[in-house]
Amino acid sequence: MPRRTVAEVGEFGWLSRLLHNRRKGRGTVVGPGQDCAVIRCGTRNCLFTVDTLVEGVHFRSRWMAPRQIGRRSFLVNASDVAAMGGRPRFCVVSLEVPGRYPADDLWALQAGIVAAARRYDADVVGGNLSRSHTLSVCIALLADAPTRVVTRGGARAGDHVYVTGTLGDAALGLRMLRTRGANRSAWAVRRFREPTPRLRAGRFLVESGIVSAMIDISDGLAQDLGHVCTESGVGAVIHAERLPRSAAYRALLGARHPLALHGGEDYELLCTVAERHVERLERNREKLGCRITRVGVITADRGIRLVDAAGNAVTLPVAGYDHFR
Ligand SMILES: [Mg+2]
Repeated sequence: MPRRTVAEVGEFGWLSRLLHNRRKGRGTVVGPGQDCAVIRCGTRNCLFTVDTLVEGVHFRSRWMAPRQIGRRSFLVNASDVAAMGGRPRFCVVSLEVPGRYPADDLWALQAGIVAAARRYDADVVGGNLSRSHTLSVCIALLADAPTRVVTRGGARAGDHVYVTGTLGDAALGLRMLRTRGANRSAWAVRRFREPTPRLRAGRFLVESGIVSAMIDISDGLAQDLGHVCTESGVGAVIHAERLPRSAAYRALLGARHPLALHGGEDYELLCTVAERHVERLERNREKLGCRITRVGVITADRGIRLVDAAGNAVTLPVAGYDHFR
């Protein structure tokens, strides 16, 4: 019998094995399966996360300048820290680069990482360079943890579902870069190239005790809400017309287009808020540094239902984006 390939096992097969076959060590507060691990460092908690961008899988060099590739690599890591309410502190970088890759591009890529890290008060404290067939940038980021731990697993029936910013712009920008269309929105392309990690919002939402669960939207609202629902053992109802769409999105795709629901790469935050904290969230909006929109509610019934403006409901399949499918 032929041996199974990684593509057949898939990312979630790998993750479930990682979650299943482990004994929690001393100092591990929250292990795999969240946006960051929570670990005990001396007398306090830290967040720890890692992410890789691979040429040909996550981006193409013709879509972005080397500096932008470096910057984006840091920003997507910082977004995972935002989802747990942390403050980025230190990162190490591992670069895999073809031997023919221009040295100037490597300096620019590195400068992009350093500048993005500095902007968010983090320090690049080490690195590694290895020869490879394709360009890949891997960053491991260590962050100060907030005083509370908020995971994907804390949503309860009756909680309201909120998202920061607008949705679907990055997917729209990516689509424009892929098709090299003439009708480009500079805003949407920039949202893909340069996501904004919602660190200020994430910190406030966690430290204030307002949110019960949180995740960053990397794979699309439907899929990332699916992770929250699965981890929390709940379902959700989402109102399609409430999904926040930018002016550029509405002008190019219209107010009903489903890209806001399924398009990934936005790196906005999705959180759940118990009814008793809604008033306090509404009162403190200006502390978030970005808009936040109520889009639905958590239900005891499993599954995610999407309701349109006319009240028609469809059940969405709950399946995460799998990098090997
Ligand atoms: Mg994440």
